[in-house]
Amino acid sequence: MESIVDLLRYDPGQLPASAENLRQDVRDFLAVEMKQYSALTRAYTWDGADQTFSEKMGAKGWLGMTLPKEYGGAGLSNLERYVVAEETLFAGAPVGYHWIADRQSGPLIARIGTEKQKADLLPRICRGETCFSIGMSEPNSGSDLASLQSKAVRTDEGWLINGTKLWTTNAHIASYMIGLFRTDLNAQPKHAGFSQFIIDLKNTPGVTVRPIEDLTGRKHFNEVVFENALVSDDALLGTENDGWRQVGSELAIERSGPERFLSCAVLFVELLKVLEQGDDQSAKREIGSILANLVTLRSMSLSVSGKLAQGDDVSLQAVIVKDLGAEFEQTLPGIVQKIVGIEPNLSDDAEPLAQVLALLTMLAPSFSLRGGTVEILRGIIAKRLGIS
Ligand SMILES: Cc1cc2nc3c(=O)[nH]c(=O)nc-3n(C[C@H](O)[C@H](O)[C@H](O)COP(=O)(O)OP(=O)(O)OC[C@H]3O[C@@H](n4cnc5c(N)ncnc54)[C@H](O)[C@@H]3O)c2cc1C
Repeated sequence: MESIVDLLRYDPGQLPASAENLRQDVRDFLAVEMKQYSALTRAYTWDGADQTFSEKMGAKGWLGMTLPKEYGGAGLSNLERYVVAEETLFAGAPVGYHWIADRQSGPLIARIGTEKQKADLLPRICRGETCFSIGMSEPNSGSDLASLQSKAVRTDEGWLINGTKLWTTNAHIASYMIGLFRTDLNAQPKHAGFSQFIIDLKNTPGVTVRPIEDLTGRKHFNEVVFENALVSDDALLGTENDGWRQVGSELAIERSGPERFLSCAVLFVELLKVLEQGDDQSAKREIGSILANLVTLRSMSLSVSGKLAQGDDVSLQAVIVKDLGAEFEQTLPGIVQKIVGIEPNLSDDAEPLAQVLALLTMLAPSFSLRGGTVEILRGIIAKRLGIS
């Protein structure tokens, strides 16, 4: 068993001056760009996608900041990216078009991609021109990812892919999916035979993307069906049959960022706007409590980002950020409703706070599913503490 003290350490993470220096520029940019978006649109935060907005971010040099300069990146750390991420999330900027590519696909390709993949894809990610999706979950494999059935079989012409991916965020607008497929059907243990592929979703015959409607009526995740879809040898990402380890290395980044506790940031901002107009003492107590949660979660998330920048293994700490962050985000709509006593209302003529509240009340259940369910995260924590 590992030492509990070591596992639970969140050394203070600090943003370097180079990161803080960016903040005002980002705020000035957002003050102009965000004028056109309603509170309701802003409430989608990293679920909202707008390619034009992403390209403007790219032109500012705020995408692919952690990628090497030779491929259009800035060669900075994820701490500089952190400032841009938290400012855009609080502003409710429509970052969804570039989010996955900027957060994890780009860094993954930079780390393990071929020269051709890097030269082709990284500059486009930095310019905000291309949207990526993650193809892990399948109809019968979500939490138990190692049971996934989609396969890629080597042929003389390349890899032949068959199977179905499910809940693939943004596959309907994405140019690419980085998908995990079974490549050694007899591997033992079963997760030893997976590989990752970069699949061109727009130009590969045999790929069908079917959007799925969520509770709000919006279509943002998809079923992606592969029927004898042939991809070239160049599509293999990293090492054949090393997909499980490669995917694992993405997860700490995926689970610890500010998006794991700022999905309801716009709700908090709209709440403050309403409360500014009155003098409700009990509301102030609740605001203090929300803020305390935000400060704590940000400190923990920043600590993980700092450790990741140093190359440390903070996968457990990241899991805890995700679990606590999701719990906080899910309770926020209920707390806000209690404070202001209004009914959630999505209709066009409703007050902005009522609209945002309605939207986030419907989106909140998904916060503890995406990126790993609460039960799975807690199982990981228990295992690392030697109690399962
Ligand atoms: C908004 C959203 C976006 C998503 N985007 C993507 C995406 O882009 N790409 C992608 O690949 N996937 C995506 N997913 C899928 C997500 O990763 C899965 O929903 C998640 O991993 C759970 O898998 P599942 O839905 O198959 O549920 P299941 O694994 O079937 O789980 C059902 C329930 O059983 C519980 N459970 C399962 N196993 C155990 C266990 N061993 N112990 C205790 N409880 C258990 C789970 O916690 C859950 O409550 C997205 C999901 C959502 C909601």
